[in-house]
Amino acid sequence: MQGPNPAPQSLAFNWLVTLAVCVLALTGCSSTGGSAASVHTPKNIIIMFADGAAPTQWDFGRYSSQVLRKQSFATTDVVFREGVLGLMTTSPHGPYVTDSAAAASAMSTGFKVENGAVSITPDGKAARTVMQAAKAAGKRIGMVTTATVYDATPAAFSINAKSRRDSQPLVDQFLALAPDVLMGGGAEYFLPTGAPGGKRKDGKDIIAAFRAMGYQIATNTTELKSVTGAKVLGMFANDDMGFELDRDAAKEPSTAEMTVAALKALSQQSPNGFVLLVENENVDEAGHRNDAASLMRALWAFDDAVKVALEFQRRNPDTLVIVTGDHETGGFSPTYALNYLSSLSSSNRFTSGVEHLRMLERITMSLNMASEKLGKKIPSEVLDQLLTQHFPGFRLDADLRDLVINGKTRERNYTYVPQNVLGHMVARQTGYYWGTSGHTPEPVAVGAIGPGAELFRGYQDNTDFGKHLHRLIGK
Ligand SMILES: [Zn+2]
Repeated sequence: MQGPNPAPQSLAFNWLVTLAVCVLALTGCSSTGGSAASVHTPKNIIIMFADGAAPTQWDFGRYSSQVLRKQSFATTDVVFREGVLGLMTTSPHGPYVTDSAAAASAMSTGFKVENGAVSITPDGKAARTVMQAAKAAGKRIGMVTTATVYDATPAAFSINAKSRRDSQPLVDQFLALAPDVLMGGGAEYFLPTGAPGGKRKDGKDIIAAFRAMGYQIATNTTELKSVTGAKVLGMFANDDMGFELDRDAAKEPSTAEMTVAALKALSQQSPNGFVLLVENENVDEAGHRNDAASLMRALWAFDDAVKVALEFQRRNPDTLVIVTGDHETGGFSPTYALNYLSSLSSSNRFTSGVEHLRMLERITMSLNMASEKLGKKIPSEVLDQLLTQHFPGFRLDADLRDLVINGKTRERNYTYVPQNVLGHMVARQTGYYWGTSGHTPEPVAVGAIGPGAELFRGYQDNTDFGKHLHRLIGK
């Protein structure tokens, strides 16, 4: 679908911004041989995308990874440090705060859309997505996510729809687009109501349709590892895939394992290269629930996949690797706090540090899974048993206990109950506080390494990100 043409004025402005950025950052531009007009074009583009991650999340990933895993965090320590680093504003058309569909649409098409829209501009036009442009340029395309494959981000990077919620028509569009690699959750809208977990009302089996088009199908980790072909459909859950903290490694592959399989498939029969989007949705989901332990594990899992992308790039230097997010989720704010409310003295204060990180490490269940296990009516003894077993060392204060038992929220913008309340229990003892259960407009970081990376330097708008990708893809 051909999108609206960018106004000549915006192209000129874009060029001027790029030129200005190059003048200000001579080292970055000189390393690629000169002006914006001679930006190197990558053969392959890998977009590593952690939904809901902004600088505070990345730094928490770096800190926790160094302290607990004794490992460097490739996102900050390699991509941000050795590559090009930019900051990006996130607003949609209209309000200040974006949803994931509008944010990804801007990053995919270069146009602002309204919250909830999937690469459809406010005047109702379908804007050309990154994956549509890549396909038109003869590149192979792939999408990997821990969400459903038709969730807001992979959808906005590839297809066009008025609403992100129309799951069945979104899946139909994915079949029509036929990405060479498609992996994640969401089998329910690929299968008819008669099949286990199926929700399609038209009786169609879209997994069978992909198989008929020559795709290899993988439904668990073992099957994924045995895939050898150039076209893969991976369907690992009926709905979203699990949080890393709860993940059954035999049933659901890790983000890194999916990335390995995607790169193996996409680099076959690929004279013009490929564009791959790898999304970790758990960072956003953990943010919505104010779940610091799940966030930590999700960031580590995502970073393991970044390491896979960087290793591919070492062997294929004509590859551009971009690491970014679309918006911040949760108003994440590690800080200090009082041990007890009995004294406001600074001697009664603790500052979040290593021992608090170790408390997060001992948590063995996501707050979503805790909510599922507790059910709607929560007896006090079931709650205590679950906390003792999976949240060792945490105490639930009387005010929070009351909210959990009665299914109530503390504030009007904390809508996940009891997850946000239990998240507050964790915050009180670790200092890992959250400002909201929604999204915030904190600018997100964009790290880029490889040919074309210099375009992403500086303080830019999310539409610039899309414009740069279209320029690098070339059609
Ligand atoms: Zn979100």
